[in-house]
Amino acid sequence: MIDMKKNKRVLVVFIGLILVFGLALGVGYLHETKNSKKNEDTKLEETKNEKPNEEEKEEPKEEESKPEEKKEEQVILDIDVDIEKVIADYDLEIIRSSIMEDSEYFKWIADAIIKNDKIAPKYKRYVFLQYKTIMANKKFLNKEIFLISVKELSIKDADGVTVGNALGIYQDYETAITIGKSMPDDVLMHELMHFVDYRIGGGNLDVVYFTGDKYSLDGPGETLKLPYGKLIIEGGAETNMARYNNYMATVSSYNHLAYIYNLLALMFGEQEMNDIYYSRDGNARLFLEMNKYGITYEEYCKFMDDLDYMSTEANFVGIVTKREAEYYLEALEFVSNLYNKKYGHSWADDPTFSNVMRFAIQGDYEGRELIPKSGFNEKEKALLNVRIDTNVFQKQVDKGYTSSYYSYTYYYLNGKHYISIPYYLNKNYEHLYEFVFEYDMVNNAVISKNVLMK
Ligand SMILES: [Zn+2]
Repeated sequence: MIDMKKNKRVLVVFIGLILVFGLALGVGYLHETKNSKKNEDTKLEETKNEKPNEEEKEEPKEEESKPEEKKEEQVILDIDVDIEKVIADYDLEIIRSSIMEDSEYFKWIADAIIKNDKIAPKYKRYVFLQYKTIMANKKFLNKEIFLISVKELSIKDADGVTVGNALGIYQDYETAITIGKSMPDDVLMHELMHFVDYRIGGGNLDVVYFTGDKYSLDGPGETLKLPYGKLIIEGGAETNMARYNNYMATVSSYNHLAYIYNLLALMFGEQEMNDIYYSRDGNARLFLEMNKYGITYEEYCKFMDDLDYMSTEANFVGIVTKREAEYYLEALEFVSNLYNKKYGHSWADDPTFSNVMRFAIQGDYEGRELIPKSGFNEKEKALLNVRIDTNVFQKQVDKGYTSSYYSYTYYYLNGKHYISIPYYLNKNYEHLYEFVFEYDMVNNAVISKNVLMK
């Protein structure tokens, strides 16, 4: 019999290692590519620019200009993508409105995806689907850099089930995604979220500027390094994967980071957290947002470091050691303190926030109990200790589904609260499904459910 717990761990939690140690190199590489392929990659602008020039030639010398015109036509033909055919070929009806939002740019992206033989054909559709995310975040889009990135992207299968110790990996320094054998779709979707995060605007900047009494995104002042920020990178990837691909993916890994990311979304707003994820200077934006309520640079770094260290220590397996539990609790205490500073009263008076905090404490892996300590007041501790009523969910699950243990993943989308729980369809633990419940956080009731096959 399969060790379902271990299997489940591997399946759900190892998703999405990201390697960015070559980020600076990656950006350099991008520039190099841009220059070395100038003719090819700047076609978009050149074509646009050449058209008026062509028209300005009022007295063309018939015989001489003909070959030039032919050449020009050829360039245009090269990029003349039949959008309807692409939508049909790649089953993209679901993102039609995003495609039509900027159909000219879509043609360039489509051409790049179709011609990119480093992307295995079975994966091309998933790259196309990112166009929805790109359009939704076009204020952060650098069209040229992203187009080059799509041309450079490679997606291939790993030799084995895992890539190192991950199910999938995105390596920014070589614009490469590698997927373990027979992985569910959301592993690739997760890695593509990293690709878009890093390449939509051309890399992430993890610095903030300080003049001695004021912090800013752009300076002047001393440059202060910010922590790596798995909270944003992984918590954001999982949450935004659900946001932009909710027809096929949900939050199913990095649960602890998703909890904290979404607790912050409850405080700062979904759009703000979305912008923190997609902008190049999101790490600094998040710090500045917290600094408004008195969080210092040192406190911010400790909070982010705890979460960075925790998931490294956890080796992507979740909270399994006492030490990780302490780091996670410290991070939740930080969030609690931040809420109380921002609103001037305890979150214990906010039924929605209280309930999400309760899920964040109780809903994690392996049924490990996290015991809230000194960082919370008595009323807060009492609320956190009220047990989650699992029957509310169990009653909604059809016969035949079993779960080796419960993990309640939380995310907040479009003002609605979702709890996602994995189940297997049969006792052989072969077919994994994710039950996604829209949840009434005030009345503790299931509003609706959706079942996703993994
Ligand atoms: Zn990841």
